[in-house]
Amino acid sequence: MNFDLPEELAAVRELAREFAEKEIAPTAARDDREHVFRKDLVAKMGELGFYGCVIPEQYGGTELGFMALAIISEEIARVHSAIRVYLNMQAGPALTLIKAGNEEQKKKWIPPLIRGEAIGCFAITEPDAGSDVAAMRSTAVRNGDGYILNGTKSWISNATVADKAVVFAYTDKSQKHHGMSAFFVDLKGPGVSCRDLDKMGTHASPTGELTFENFHIPPQGLVGKEGDGFKICMWHLSHTRLSCAAGAVGVARAAREAAVSYANQREQFGQKIGQFQMIQDTIAQMIVQEESARLLVYRAASLADQHRPNTLETSIAKYAAAETAAFNADAALKILGAYGYSTEFPVERYLRDAKSYQIVEGSSNIQKLIIAQDALGYRKANR
Ligand SMILES: Cc1cc2nc3c(=O)[nH]c(=O)nc-3n(C[C@H](O)[C@H](O)[C@H](O)COP(=O)(O)OP(=O)(O)OC[C@H]3O[C@@H](n4cnc5c(N)ncnc54)[C@H](O)[C@@H]3O)c2cc1C
Repeated sequence: MNFDLPEELAAVRELAREFAEKEIAPTAARDDREHVFRKDLVAKMGELGFYGCVIPEQYGGTELGFMALAIISEEIARVHSAIRVYLNMQAGPALTLIKAGNEEQKKKWIPPLIRGEAIGCFAITEPDAGSDVAAMRSTAVRNGDGYILNGTKSWISNATVADKAVVFAYTDKSQKHHGMSAFFVDLKGPGVSCRDLDKMGTHASPTGELTFENFHIPPQGLVGKEGDGFKICMWHLSHTRLSCAAGAVGVARAAREAAVSYANQREQFGQKIGQFQMIQDTIAQMIVQEESARLLVYRAASLADQHRPNTLETSIAKYAAAETAAFNADAALKILGAYGYSTEFPVERYLRDAKSYQIVEGSSNIQKLIIAQDALGYRKANR
């Protein structure tokens, strides 16, 4: 087993690192403070092919794979976690179309998404349906010419800026999970309104509510078959979860780097604080957790690239990475003391952003549920 990155992936890492340092870092603090959605960066990352890693060449992708996407996600999130969200908002809907769309849908909708020309989003969550996806109330009722969608989606990344969305709704509630369907919709049509939802971090990635009122979906908006929605949604989450896990590793790394750098400079009681064993203990824990999480992310990405089942491994990676991001950011803030708490340093942003990873794409509890139920034999994760 060779733990070195192959040349091609090392080059991807270099490209993403340079891009993040040059294009994202200089304005990261301002973008966060002023809640700036960086549409220009969406386009630039599209030009660099970042969204196309997991998309076949025939639809404009690079086919570099999930490992490449994970590496890019880590590098971007290390500099500004909110910008990492853009990767999933573009690549996520495209990936769903690859999995379940027909040829016409793939040809028409994937290229603009992965070039970063059409802003994407995916809408699952509702005010009363978070972890319990099947509790959603949105309905898409067939009429003569397509479907009529009604319902409210909440906490949707990009809701206020997106052009296109993958939306999940019941076409037949009586069939429970089997009555849910997936749609690809144009958000610029009549019958949809949005409002921004403020939050504690990830500010450069807008989050909002989408309300559909008698919103018309043409027949070609149905992705897959009627009733396939729940299956498509779970598949989608188990893949976008990987970029999310890699992003959490990026935040953990940024926090660890800030802590080490500060501990090497700050003096108290006549010596560098890095000389204190309690600080060393914390730094050692940060490094062990970060490296463990990264290896788990790489294992899940490698399985995905081999088209092998990876739901369990992705959940393990996501749980480990999310908890590590929160641990490292909290630990870094303590090491920096008042400067950690200050908005002049990025560490408080790392902590605010890190917390999102314990909630999005399946909370930490939901990942533990998947992992433990698999171990106990109640419900196999890799089916
Ligand atoms: C920044 C941000 C961006 C987001 N972007 C999107 C997006 O683009 N698209 C989208 O559809 N959604 C998005 N979401 C929503 C996100 O997916 C949900 O917040 C998440 O699924 C959790 O749902 P909830 O917040 O309603 O929590 P709930 O499901 O209400 O959970 C509350 C608490 O109960 C726990 N819990 C729930 N069920 C169980 C259980 N069975 N066992 C043990 N504990 C349990 C949870 O872990 C949590 O701690 C986003 C959320 C945030 C914060």
